[in-house]
Amino acid sequence: MFRAIKTLIGLTLLASACATQAFPTQQAVPGGLLILALTSQNEPKPVVYYAGARVTVVPEGNEWLALVGIPLDTKPGMEQLEVNFGNTQQALSFEVQAKHYRTQSLRIKDKNKVEPDEDSSERIVQEMALQKRLTSQYVGEVSSIDFIRPIAGRDSGRFGLRRILNGQPRQPHSGMDIAAATGTPVKVVAPGRVIHTGNLFFSGNVVYVDHGGGLISMYAHLSQINVKNGEFLEQGDYLGSVGSTGRATGPHLHWSVYLNGTAINPALFL
Ligand SMILES: [Zn+2]
Repeated sequence: MFRAIKTLIGLTLLASACATQAFPTQQAVPGGLLILALTSQNEPKPVVYYAGARVTVVPEGNEWLALVGIPLDTKPGMEQLEVNFGNTQQALSFEVQAKHYRTQSLRIKDKNKVEPDEDSSERIVQEMALQKRLTSQYVGEVSSIDFIRPIAGRDSGRFGLRRILNGQPRQPHSGMDIAAATGTPVKVVAPGRVIHTGNLFFSGNVVYVDHGGGLISMYAHLSQINVKNGEFLEQGDYLGSVGSTGRATGPHLHWSVYLNGTAINPALFL
């Protein structure tokens, strides 16, 4: 109980400290990020789970902080983390606030990308399983949470938009769209290892990068991929070029960020 109170105070302090540091912004909403101080760094690093998924824990100041991705379909209200402090196991509660996301209507020329035929549907199911596997990896420690923008350009589609495609409701937007000319070089936002490159039905040519400790980034609709699976990238390395492969209305970069296997608003990292 005492620890729960202590972490809530930690939260308030963090909110002010974050403004001056290159640290993600906390927003405890569906599709957002909870930053929770767990314990002093003199203590062993806690192991945290949320809804069965391992949570990213990073050192900051003299504390261990949990970075908890909150799924977009979470209902506002109380949620719980399971925390193993080494010698004690505790459940910590946090509150998810409501957030309204806007609706975006788009017209897609390729009808099969909105109402996939049977072959495409089979492919989509397989690719969803692959994406689930890639985005829920937890390997080693986080390289850096101090992200750079992958490309300059106008934000053309915010995270969380409720999508209406050719008049039909579809999955909400799981990343950030940045409009740019075809061929614009795309930079990796932080150091990390390439864990997948290939072509997906909706995302087109993609690159997935594992930044360690459960933090993954993904770059979609590329016209060209410049990196290989297994390759280690330094922050700012070019991984490919902007394009409009997959389901896209025009050339842009779709950029996603995942924590504990859930897509969260990438803008919180900028
Ligand atoms: Zn997108």
